[in-house]
Amino acid sequence: MGRDTGAKCRQCRREGEKLFLKGDRCYSRSCALAGSRRVSPPGEGPKKRRPRKSQYQIHLREKQKARRIYGVRERQFRNYVAQAKRKKGVTGEALLELLERRMDNMVYRAGLASSRQQARQMITHGHFLLNGRPTNIPSTILKDGDVVAVKESRRDRVKGIVEANKDRDVPAWLEKNAEAMKFQVIAPPNVEQMGLNIAAHLIVEFYSR
Ligand code: SF4
Repeated sequence: MGRDTGAKCRQCRREGEKLFLKGDRCYSRSCALAGSRRVSPPGEGPKKRRPRKSQYQIHLREKQKARRIYGVRERQFRNYVAQAKRKKGVTGEALLELLERRMDNMVYRAGLASSRQQARQMITHGHFLLNGRPTNIPSTILKDGDVVAVKESRRDRVKGIVEANKDRDVPAWLEKNAEAMKFQVIAPPNVEQMGLNIAAHLIVEFYSR
């Protein structure tokens, strides 16, 4: 299982934007980056003048941001880049589509978990069925047509989480049945509708050095 264990808000401060790593808190006013709050990267005072970033640093930060958002370790992330390069079309878009198709991400996007990390934990704990079969692998890449559902025996346990996330927007490539606590992948993820501030071509360039 790939995940970052560093303090989550610290990771957002490092990237200078909200990465939505803490679930409900990220959507509240308690978020360290809520509203117009100005924050400095960890270890740097607010008044310190920051030197201009090198090309390497710009590429590195973009890669780290994507890794942190999806909670993927470096080795696995590198594998995704290699897979994306083998696909037809724009490599950066193929990379984001692969990340988006991870089961933990889809469970989060469908509002069956408050964060990708929580989704990962719920999958590992065996709360879900994939196409009617038990699964506990958060990195499973979902295909169009796949159906993910909360197991009947776990419904009471996850009811509160699903209720708390019921008003969150579900992307167009997922069809959610909130009452049945399940969703289906009905189309390929659309990079422009992912709502991510990631310049994927910079990541591809990082790994092409
Ligand atoms: Fe990032 Fe969420 Fe912490 Fe806000 S609350 S800084 S979005 S992890």
